[in-house]
Amino acid sequence: MSQVFIISAPSGSGKSTLVRNLLERDPSLIFSVSYTTREPRGQEQEGHEYHFVSRDAFVAMKDCGDFIEWAPVFDDFYGTHRRYVDQARAEGRDVVLDIDVKGARQLRERIPEAVSVFILAPSREELEKRLRARGDVSEQVIRKRVAEAAREIQDFSQYGYVLVNEDVEEASDLLQAIVEAARRQADSEQTARLRSEDAAVRTRVSQILGTFER
Ligand code: 5GP
Repeated sequence: MSQVFIISAPSGSGKSTLVRNLLERDPSLIFSVSYTTREPRGQEQEGHEYHFVSRDAFVAMKDCGDFIEWAPVFDDFYGTHRRYVDQARAEGRDVVLDIDVKGARQLRERIPEAVSVFILAPSREELEKRLRARGDVSEQVIRKRVAEAAREIQDFSQYGYVLVNEDVEEASDLLQAIVEAARRQADSEQTARLRSEDAAVRTRVSQILGTFER
């Protein structure tokens, strides 16, 4: 069975690094490449980190129902194309979505069994430090992102797991452990349905026995 992993975090929590490490450690995972109206940053490449599209193209896709979820984040639009989730499910592969809190809420409504992880920096000071270290945002933007982080963190209990990113290696190990635990749980749910005391199993066996009596 294919699993959907939702990963969200306030900007500056180190989520991109953790997601990158997770994908490197586990190449069986499919990364859902989102569509965005924002401009590429630094080394970002079309189709790798994002599909970069115009606002008109984004709205046209949204109106066609291409997005399984979408949300405005800061001053741009971001959305997950259905095909990533559909393709992963068709291939029985697990898919990772790096999406914001609003998108995660929509996705959980559509895929309640999705496993969700909220990543956060250990403190406001640390978050500010990490945002500043990026060097590509103004103090005004940093203030805006810190205020947004405070709002997003309030939503933590909607996530199945919370990961405080104090140390990248440790947090990467823990994220991988969450993925593996979810897979083991899915396996055990699947095999639990085969237990002899399960009502459906008992019914099935009596049906089979019935075929011997004919
Ligand atoms: P950035 O522009 O820094 O790459 O991402 C800004 C925020 O947009 C991040 O919190 C990221 O998780 C979120 N985001 C990226 N892709 C999507 C998406 O497809 N849907 C939603 N709802 N949020 C997204």
